Parts: sequence; C-alpha cells; structure tokens
Amino acid sequence: MPHLKRIAILGSTGSIGTQALDVISQHPDRFRATVLTAGSNADLLISQARAFLPDTVVIADETRYDQVREALADLPVKVFTGAESLAQAVTGSEVDIVLTAVVGFAGLVPTVAAIKAGKTIALANKETLVVAGAIIRELCARYQVDLLPVDSEHSAIFQSLLGQDTTCGLRRILLTASGGPFRHMSADEIARVTPEQALRHPSWHMGAKITIDSATMLNKGFEMIEACWLFGATPAGIEVVVHPESVIHSAVELADGAVIAQLGVPDMRLPIQFALSFPERLELSGERLDLFALGSLHFERPDLDRFPCLRLAYEAMEAGGTMPCVLNGANEILNAAFRHHRIGFTDIARGIERVMHDMPSIARPSLDDLIETDREARERAELVVG
Ligand code: NDP
Ligand code: MG
Repeated sequence: MPHLKRIAILGSTGSIGTQALDVISQHPDRFRATVLTAGSNADLLISQARAFLPDTVVIADETRYDQVREALADLPVKVFTGAESLAQAVTGSEVDIVLTAVVGFAGLVPTVAAIKAGKTIALANKETLVVAGAIIRELCARYQVDLLPVDSEHSAIFQSLLGQDTTCGLRRILLTASGGPFRHMSADEIARVTPEQALRHPSWHMGAKITIDSATMLNKGFEMIEACWLFGATPAGIEVVVHPESVIHSAVELADGAVIAQLGVPDMRLPIQFALSFPERLELSGERLDLFALGSLHFERPDLDRFPCLRLAYEAMEAGGTMPCVLNGANEILNAAFRHHRIGFTDIARGIERVMHDMPSIARPSLDDLIETDREARERAELVVG
C-alpha cells in the first residue's frame, strides 16, 4: 500500500489550488486534501469541501464565515475564519504537505508556521521567498523541512539537478520566460496597454496578479530571486532567456558544459503533482509534447529598457536585506492599481522605482522588520498612485 499524503492547500480556490485538487482527484490512493482555505470565494470553497471532504476549511474573509459554516453544517468538516486561522490550520496533525498557493505577502506568515510545525512545503507562493528568502532558508534548515518548488521554472531546474553533483557542478541557470503578451511591442505601444490586454497571457492561464507580473516581466525578476534562494545561486549566475513557446521550462548548465533541461507542454499540473509526489513520479492525464507539431523553438534576450521591472528585481536582490520586500510590497499595490484602471502600465515600474529609491534597505531583517517594511512600502506606493 503506498503512503497516503495528507495535503493542506493554502488558496484552494485559485488557479494553482484548483489545479492541485484536479491532481489530487486523479490519485485518491496517494493524496487526500485535509485542509482547504480561501480568501473570500465562499461558494467555490463550499463546493470543494463537499467534493473532497477535508477535515478543516478556512475562509479568511470573516464576513463569509456564517455562509460557509451553515452550508457545511451537515458534514464533519471544521470551519474557521480569519488570517490567524490560516496559520493554525496548516500546523495540525492531519497535514503532511502544505501547498502554499495563496497570492502575495499573505502567504508568508502561514508558510513560516507550517515550517515550524515540520510540514513539507510545496511552494507556489513565490512572494514568500522574494521577501523572506534568508529567513525561510534558515528555518527550513533548522526544522529539517523540504521546500519543493511548484513554479514551473523552478520545478524544471529542480528536476534537471536531480542526481547531479550540485556542490561544485552548477555553473549557470537558464531561466526561461515566455516574454508575456507585449514581447513585440514598442515602448510607446507598451505605455498604452490596458489591463484587459495584459490579462491575456499567451501561454498560461493564471491568477490576475501573476498575469500582470508576467506582462511587466517582474514575475521573471521574482523567479530570479526565488531561484537564488532555492538553489544557492547568485543573480549573476542566472540568465533569463525569452522562449515564447514555453516548452523548455528552464535548464541548468553544469561544470562540463552539459545543459540539462525539462521540457513539456505548458501545464502547471505537472510541477504541482511532482512537488506532491516527490521523490516518486506518477501518471498524469493530459496533452503530451509533440516536437514535430512544434517544428522549432525560439530564444531571445530580455529587453530591460522596455521591461524595467526585471532590472529592478536584479537591483533589489543586489541591494539585499529588505529591498526585495520593498519591491514586492510596492508592486502589490501598483499591480492592483493598474488592474483597477487607476494607473497606466508603465506607472507600475515607475512607482516601484520611486518607492525603492525612497526606502533604505535594512540588512538581516527579522520577520517583524519585513512585516513593517511591507506595510511602509504599500503606504508609499498608495501615495504614488494618488
Ligand atoms: P489566484 O489569484 O488564482 O488564487 C489565489 C488564492 O489565494 C485564492 O484561493 C484566493 O482566495 C487566496 N487568497 C488571496 N488572498 C488571500 C488572503 N489575503 N488570505 C487568504 N487567502 C487569500 O492566484 P494563483 O493561483 O495564480 O497564484 C497563487 C500563487 O502561486 C502566487 O504566489 C503565484 O505567484 C504563484 N504561481 C502561480 C502560477 C499559476 O500558474 N497560477 C504559476 C507559478 C506560481 P479567493 O479565491 O477566495 O480570492
Ligand atoms: Mg513561473
């Protein structure tokens, strides 16, 4: 009998969360969803709870608590509400793996709680590593917790490094990027794009925030920072390669010049499943890669002038300390302001640069320093939005 892994999903109603439940439903003998959590989407959380019968659900939005509790009153499902309940729910004894699929800074505190409780982390919430990479690495080492990447690029790097001599062998990470929907546009055209255009991503169907981050290419900047912390790399050791077909999910170059990559059709369920099943590989239904149908693959250098957010991410990581947290906090406000038609597309980068310029970086921040930095960066970004 294979071991049944009990999984808590932080953000089960989102793009990653719903795809994770699809993976879990394909392997009922291997996985069981024991904790499901949502921000405010009560209707979907209720139907997920009816379908998967978890032990616990959490709705972060307290105004939806009564609705969820009443709808599940006939089932043996515990219902909690509030941000603090998120952290408590993932530390319970009925959880082996925590899939962090919440969006934004909100993922940090529950992830820290899960690590301290010794839970394996399947990490989708990249903002956690962007703002608190040093703390998360240190905690994972102290509590001997595995941090398994869900982000497709990092899963590809992880898969490429399996069985390799990584102590001195890793020379370079080739971090691939689709380039987003504005790859071919001039700077003038990019300045006029609308949220509706930015939300149409060419390769991936994702949540709204990360889709805008992909259009600005800040997502790739975040992924560069995420790769530094996951694989002990430096920003200079990570090369971003624009690859519009999104078939090579990333690659590594080893000491002898061998380049090892993971390829496949763009389908997030594969990296989600691999993080949950690791070290095993399981069947996964879905489309298969057809190289003949593709014919050719293309590669370009990223353009840091048209996509300055990528440059800002390199600058934030070089500055270190709280600066990546400043970058992230400012972006969360500016990204949302753009989605709500309050600012233009290029105002996102301009606003982030302004907030980064105005806030000093604190070296070796504590978790409380990061919470305070995030608050201040958001406040300053709100002022920039006006
Ligand atoms: P979505 O916006 O689709 O989903 C976010 C999830 O988090 C939802 O379940 C949402 O609940 C919940 N949530 C949002 N805010 C809060 C909060 N304050 N407290 C508690 N729960 C909250 O995002 P994605 O699934 O696209 O992305 C999730 C994470 O995974 C992000 O960090 C993203 O960068 C990363 N990622 C995503 C990829 C993708 O393909 N989507 C690929 C690689 C990484 P509700 O539905 O109720 O709002
Ligand atoms: Mg990615």
